[in-house]
Formats: sequence, C-alpha cells, structure tokens
Amino acid sequence: MFDTRELGRRPGALKRLSREVPAPGSLGVEVIRVPEGAPLELDLRLESVMEGVLVTGTVRFPLAGECVRCLEPLTREGTAEFQELFSYPDSEFSARFADTEDEEADEERLFLQNDLIDLEPVLRDAVVLALPLRPTCREDCPGLCPDCGARLAEDPEHQHDEPIDIRWAALREFAEAGASEEPAGSDKQAKAPRSRGDEPQEK
Ligand SMILES: [Zn+2]
Ligand SMILES: [Zn+2]
Repeated sequence: MFDTRELGRRPGALKRLSREVPAPGSLGVEVIRVPEGAPLELDLRLESVMEGVLVTGTVRFPLAGECVRCLEPLTREGTAEFQELFSYPDSEFSARFADTEDEEADEERLFLQNDLIDLEPVLRDAVVLALPLRPTCREDCPGLCPDCGARLAEDPEHQHDEPIDIRWAALREFAEAGASEEPAGSDKQAKAPRSRGDEPQEK
C-alpha cells in the first residue's frame, strides 16, 4: 500500500520513491518463484493525472527455482517494469466509465482506496510475466543422462554400452523363459548351462 496524499491531486504533480517490500506468498510457479518474504526493490514514479494517479515503476526481485534440465537448484535476479493507472473512485471520469455497459473494462480498472494504492496485484502480474519460462542453471546445461540420470555437466565423457546390454538381457530372459517351460521339476536346472542353449547365452 502506498499513500498518495503527499502527491496531491493537482494534475502534473510528480513523486518518485524507492522502497523495499517483502514478497507476498506464492509469487511465481513451481519451477521458479520469488521466495516469500524476499525483498522486492521498487522504484516508483507517481504522477497525478486528471482521473487519478499514474504509477510507473520497476521492481527487482530474487528468484529461486531449479534447472529444468538437470534439476539443480538455482537462483536468479529478475526485473520487471509496470505502469498502471489508479483512478479516483469519485472522479467525473470514473462516473462516466461506470455508466457504460462495458463491465469487463470496468472490472480491470484499479482505484485508489482512501488515497492509497494497492500495488500487490500489479506487482504480481509484472513479476509473473517476467519469469523465465524454462530456467536453466547455465545456458548450455547438458542436462541428465537419459540412461542413468547422472548429471552430464559433472561427467561430460560419460557414456554407456547399455543399449546393447539391454538387448542382450532381453535375449537372455527370452531364452530363460523358454527354458523354464520345461516339465515341472526342471526349474532348478533351468539356469544351468544346457548343451544346446548355452552358446548364444554365455557370450
Ligand atoms: Zn542445469
Ligand atoms: Zn548415464
């Protein structure tokens, strides 16, 4: 909440101010957000205009989240700009607006409440729009190994012969499944080498 009384209602009056406010809760999305209570640094310019107060500002905010590729925690700084008109609820202009049937436009309008402006919804919109869509720990983060989940940034040479292994494993299972279809009582012998079956299985 910001008090605009000092500004006065004379159109053209101007006031600049800087302020730090704690971030409200749930500002952001799961993967990247402003921690609750973290400082939002505001630079504001309040300008008195005919129908209300025009607020132009910049907000700087810390972000915490995780890399979408490697899931490492990361922190960022973000900035967002915004501009919003807060109308005097009793101004002629507002009355004129209220008469129109355009309720949607009316709902989107913000009003001064007892000469105070409530910036939270404005800040919320500005910050959410400025969030990185796919935050990564670094531009070229190689992500995780699709086979074992190892972090490739730590082990770039990392590789597997796994595709081949998997195929062999499947073959082996197939052979073993075939073997266990023998009459009951042969279960214990199923894994033992067989004269015919062991050649492709063993190597
Ligand atoms: Zn990463
Ligand atoms: Zn791997």
